[in-house]
Amino acid sequence: MNIDISTFNFDCPVCGKHHGADVNTVIIEQGAFNRLEEVAVSLGLDPKDAIAVYDTNTTKIVPKRTTCKQEVILPAEDLHANERGTGLLEEMAEKGSYFIAIGSGSLHDITRYVAFNRGVPFISCPTACSVDGFASNSCAMTLGGMKLTVYCRMPIAIVADSLILKDSPMKLTRSGFGDMIGKYTSVADWKISGLFGKDDFCQNIADIQMKAVREVIDCCPGLKMRDPDAYEKLMYGLILSGLAMQMFGTTRPASGPEHHISHTWEMGVLAHTDALHGEKVGVATLIVSKKYHEVLDIGPSYLDRLIPELTIMPKESLRKIVGEKLFPVIEEQNRNDTLAGMTVDTIREKWDDMAAIMRMIPPYEELKKIYDSIGAMTTMEEIGLSDDLIDKSFMIAPYIRNRFTFMRVMGRVKENPFI
Ligand SMILES: [Zn+2]
Ligand SMILES: [Zn+2]
Repeated sequence: MNIDISTFNFDCPVCGKHHGADVNTVIIEQGAFNRLEEVAVSLGLDPKDAIAVYDTNTTKIVPKRTTCKQEVILPAEDLHANERGTGLLEEMAEKGSYFIAIGSGSLHDITRYVAFNRGVPFISCPTACSVDGFASNSCAMTLGGMKLTVYCRMPIAIVADSLILKDSPMKLTRSGFGDMIGKYTSVADWKISGLFGKDDFCQNIADIQMKAVREVIDCCPGLKMRDPDAYEKLMYGLILSGLAMQMFGTTRPASGPEHHISHTWEMGVLAHTDALHGEKVGVATLIVSKKYHEVLDIGPSYLDRLIPELTIMPKESLRKIVGEKLFPVIEEQNRNDTLAGMTVDTIREKWDDMAAIMRMIPPYEELKKIYDSIGAMTTMEEIGLSDDLIDKSFMIAPYIRNRFTFMRVMGRVKENPFI
C-alpha cells in the first residue's frame, strides 16, 4: 500500500484553511523493511550516513539488520520518552545525516526529539501498531514529571512492514486499537469546542479521523487472525490519525478527554499503572462515554448541578490533589482557564446542538462489544487501577491540559468532592 501524500495537502473548502502534511513517502506493505535504503536514496539521503535506532526487543524481530553508519540499541526495559530516554540516545548516537526509528511509540518519540534537537530528519519504521503518533509532528514527552506535547519533527518517510507488524505482541496491537477508538470522544469534544468558539474545527479533518476509526473497527477480526492485510489497515488508520494532527496543526483532532485521563495516570497523579498508552486510552474512552451518556439521559437539567459561572477549582484543593512537585506546572497550565467567559447559560443555549454531537459517541454497551471483538481491556482492574479512581480521575484530568472538553465543564460541579 503506497499512500498518495498529495491528497493530504489541500486548500480546505470546509474551513477555508490550507491543510498540509510534510511526510514525503508512506509505504505499508509486506516486506517494506527491505525498502528502507531505497526510500532513503529516493529522498536524497545517504544510507551509509544514517543512525538506526532500535531497542533490545526490536533488533530481534526485523528480517535483517541495516547497513547504516551506526546501529544504536537502547535497553527496552523501562524505556520511556523522558529525559532519561532522550539522554541515552544523545549519549550513544554518533553524528549522522539522519535517523531511522525502528520500534514502537516511545522509541519513535525519543528519536524524533533527538533528531529535532540535532536538526536532522528521521525515517519512521514502526514495528507494532501500538499508537497513532508515528506520522505526528509532536511527541508525547514526560519532562519534569509533566506529560507534555512537544512539537518537533515529523518523519520524512514512514516504512511499515506488515510482516513485522502482524507478528508483534497482540497486547501492542490492542493498544493501537485503544488509541484509535478514543477518537470517538476526542473528535466529539473537538466539535463541541468548535460549537462554543473555543477551538477552530474542521469537519473535513474530523471525517478523515472517523473514517480511520471505522476502518480499524472493521479489521478487528483479521487482526486476531494475524492477517497482514488487517495490520496494513490498522497501521493506515494510525497513520491517518497522525496526519490529521499534522494537517490541523495541533493534537486536537486526536486527543481529548480520554487522553487527558490517560495522561493523569501516566503522570502518576492519582496512581501509577504500567498499562500501555492505548490500553489506558481505551478504558478512559469507556469512562467518558458512560459519563457523557449519563448527562444525555438526564437532559439539560443536568446543568443545574454546575456552578453557574463554571469557576475553576480553588488552588489549594488542586495543590492537595496533584502534590507540591506538579502543582506549579499545573497552575501555569490553567492560568488562562479555557472556560473563562463561559457560564452554564452559554451551554444551555446550545444544549440541543451539543447533545446531538455527544450522541455520536457510541454508548458503553456498543463500545464494549467492539472491544470484545479484539479482546481489548475494558476495566480499571485490567489496567491495574481501582474503580474508586474513576470519578477522581474524571475530575482531575481536565487540569492536566487547559483544553476545552465537556469533561472540563463537568468538573465544575457545586458538590466537588475535593473541596
Ligand atoms: Zn479544513
Ligand atoms: Zn494517543
